This record gives sequence, structure tokens and C-alpha cells, in this order.
Amino acid sequence: MSDPGAPGSFTHHALTSAAAPASRGRHVVVVGAGIVGASTAWHLAKKGFAVTLLDREPPRAIADGASGGNAGLLSIGHYPLTRPGVSWRGLKWMFSRTAPLYIKPRVDRELVSWLWNFHLHCNQRHLDRCMEVLCAMGWQTLEVLEGILAEESIQCDYARDGWLDVVMKPENMAHAEAEAKSLERFGYRWERIEGDDLRHRDPCFTGEVAGAIHMKDSAHCAPDDLIAGLVRALPKHGVALRFDATVKGFRQRPSGAVDGVLLESGEMIAADAVVLAAGIWSDALGRLAGVAIPMQGARGYHLQLDYPADAPPPSPSTGMVLHETFVAVTPMARDGKRQLRLAGTLEIGPLDEPWMRERLAMLMRGSTAYLRGLDRLKVASEWAGYRPCTSDGMPAIGGVRSKPGLFVATGHAMMGMTLGPVTGKAMAELVAGEKPCFDCSMLDPERFAARRSAG
Ligand SMILES: Cc1cc2nc3c(=O)[nH]c(=O)nc-3n(C[C@H](O)[C@H](O)[C@H](O)COP(=O)(O)OP(=O)(O)OC[C@H]3O[C@@H](n4cnc5c(N)ncnc54)[C@H](O)[C@@H]3O)c2cc1C
Repeated sequence: MSDPGAPGSFTHHALTSAAAPASRGRHVVVVGAGIVGASTAWHLAKKGFAVTLLDREPPRAIADGASGGNAGLLSIGHYPLTRPGVSWRGLKWMFSRTAPLYIKPRVDRELVSWLWNFHLHCNQRHLDRCMEVLCAMGWQTLEVLEGILAEESIQCDYARDGWLDVVMKPENMAHAEAEAKSLERFGYRWERIEGDDLRHRDPCFTGEVAGAIHMKDSAHCAPDDLIAGLVRALPKHGVALRFDATVKGFRQRPSGAVDGVLLESGEMIAADAVVLAAGIWSDALGRLAGVAIPMQGARGYHLQLDYPADAPPPSPSTGMVLHETFVAVTPMARDGKRQLRLAGTLEIGPLDEPWMRERLAMLMRGSTAYLRGLDRLKVASEWAGYRPCTSDGMPAIGGVRSKPGLFVATGHAMMGMTLGPVTGKAMAELVAGEKPCFDCSMLDPERFAARRSAG
């Protein structure tokens, strides 16, 4: 355990001993109880670290963040946002409040710099490099997650049954097929299903649907139940959970080394290592320790729908994305009830702006032509949350060399639920000084600073 009385930037604040006992080994504070932080805490505890997991939210809100509200598609083999042509398409959509990707126009140096970097990374060479790493992560993550679900007996309606790219217009089938084919070289399996066969297998689809591509290697789940189950399981492994605990700074030695966090309450928690896994808020928090991880929060929405008790329309048997409207549709059995989650839209704007209700409405409007009887389902809840997006489309995972003791795990954009479990495993390995289970060299959290000084 580090010396809580050591000189540092926050020595004027009251110091308290860390909540977890030092006897279990080195003490690690993990900031953020989303899928990335919770998975990291689980793996660290399994390695014998004394772990404290902090979140600013109260316990009842465990599942209210991005890691509970997402679409629940564990889609390994997902391309990152930085694909050739996406930046030009984004520019075209920029002024339309109902475009799938909406960027709220504003004068903001950070946004301009992010967009420019994003544009520079939308090329095939970068995409190929990204896919090597993302696939290495993707091929391990479901095994890692399945291990946790089995060991902790977490019930979250998990099924490894792939996902469907559901196509309405016959002329778009070729595009969907080409997309699936492009993933073959990474080992992903797929199958083309024509409209009638699709309806035969899954009567939930309307006669207007032309067909689908079944990406076979992925899974889906009820993410709220997954994250709540995982966080609940942590104390069993000795993890000290601290809710209502907002981190507002780091304790740093004159050398820059980080050896504690400061809470809004004034309490200081000493640590041998701190893992910053606070989703989109990692950007602002990292800057307090002198590390910039420039990210934009890409807001998305969901509608949770209840099936009627009387003569319910057929429910989909697997998760899907509607090809023309980009809406993700996921069946979920929760508390013995069948539900459907419609999720999606990508909106880049300042954090915590009022919801854009027209974008929430896009979810239902973009789904009714594909699915039978959707108008008979009742809205159980509405939600909005942020995907943490870096400008090169890749997460930031690793130790911060210039700030020994500080580790970062964030920036998973629209792949965080999928890649969170394996990120947690790699993070624990990195903190332990071991070789991580995938190559993290492209994910260096300090790469953005290097680019800025180079550019
Ligand atoms: C509409 C939508 C659909 C999506 N669908 C999918 C999908 O199908 N599949 C997929 O893989 N991904 C999906 N994603 C992306 C995925 O949800 C995110 O990438 C992932 O949840 C990010 O997890 P995280 O742990 O990094 O961050 P979060 O889940 O945001 O967790 C960060 C935590 O840090 C806490 N925190 C923040 N600041 C502080 C502070 N100062 N002190 C203490 N705690 C703090 C927050 O309270 C929060 O609990 C989707 C996202 C959206 C918005």
C-alpha cells in the first residue's frame, strides 16, 4: 500500500484509509462501475488485488448508464466507426436532426480537432489495423464473459445465437452480403436468408422484408441484468463497492505518479494503482491527471417495449440490426416478462443536453415496417446514454507511462458491452505487470498527446 501521507497535490484534504484491506495485496481503485470498470474489478480481485470500485451513482442506478441501456448485442467482428467514407457521409448528415448520425453544429475547438482526426482515420489501411486488434479482442470476449456468467450464476437472457442484418429493400441485399463477406477473412461465419425462409424461421417479420444476413458468431443479452448481476457479485470476491462516490481528482506525487483519488466529499482514497474506466467522463477526469483522451459522447436512445398479455405478436428469437434504419432490436426476457428493446441513433453534441425527442421517435418509426404487431407493444421505459468515442475509432487501454500508477480503459464507442469483459481481463493483467491477452500497443492512452505534439 502506498503511503497516504506522502506529499502530493491533495495533501490538504482529509485522508482516509482505503475501504478494502491491504492484506489482500496491492490496492487498486477502479473508477466507474460500467461494464469496463466492473469487469476490470472482477479480474483484479481474482488475481488477489484489494479492489475498491467507485461510482458516482447510487446503487439503484447501477444499470442506468450506457452499460445497462445499450442494445445488448455482443457483436464480435463489428467494424469501428472509422470506416472509409463515413466522415463524408457524416458531414452530409450534419445538419439533419433525424439523420442516423447527427452532429450538432457548434463552434468548439475540441470538436473540430476530433472531427479532423476522425476524418484522417477513415481509411482502409487504418481499418485493417483496427480489425486485427478488435478481432483478437472479439474472439476472446465471449469466452471471458461466459466464464463470468457461469461462475456468478448471472441470469441475463444471454444467448450465443448470432445477430441478423435485416434488409427491407431487395437491392440492399447485395450490400449486406458484401459486408458479411468482408468479415470472412477474419474468420466470421454468416449465412444469407431469403425473405420467405426468414419468416418461416421467425414469424415476427413482415412480408415487406427482403431477407437477412445471419452473422453467426455473436450473442445477445439483457445488458441491465448483466451489469447489475456482475456488480452484485463483486463483494463476494472482496471488492469494496462505493456508490455515491464522485471522483473529482487524483493524488499525484511531484514525479507525476498517481497514488490515490480524491472524492467530491473531500475524502482521499490511497491506492497503488488507479484504473480510469469512467466511460465518456474519462476524458474530463483524465485531464485532471494531465492525460488527454479526447472523446466525443455519441448519444443513443432506447425504447423498452412490453408485449401485451393477450394474443401477443410473435417476438424475434434473436437480436438484429435493421439494415436501412440502423435500429438495433433485441428480445429480452426480464423478470419473467418478454420485452423488446429498440436502440440506436448516434448524436454527437455537448453532454447532458436535453433529449432530442424526434430521435427517440426514430426508433419506432424505423422498426414498424420490419416487425409485425409492433404498434401493439407498450412503451415500458425510455432511455438515453453515451458511447465514449475516440477520434481513431479504437479504445484507450493501458498504463499511462508518464503517470505511473494510472491506467486507462475506455473509448469502446459502440462496442463496449461486447469488448468490456475481455478489456477487464487485459486490464488486470496489465496492472499485474503481465502480458495482456491481446496486443494493446495500438490502444496506448497517450497516443493522442503524441499526435497533438507531432501535429
Ligand atoms: C444506444 C446505445 C446502444 C449500444 N449498443 C451496444 C451494443 O449492442 N453492443 C455493444 O457492445 N455496445 C453497445 N453500446 C456501447 C456500450 O454501451 C458502451 O461502449 C459501454 O457501455 C461503455 O462502458 P463503460 O464501462 O466504458 O462506460 P459506462 O457504462 O458509461 O460507465 C462509466 C461509469 O463511470 C461512472 N462515472 C463517471 N464519472 C465518474 C466520476 N467522476 N466518479 C465516479 N464514477 C464516475 C458513471 O456513473 C458510469 O457508471 C451502445 C451504446 C448506446 C448508447
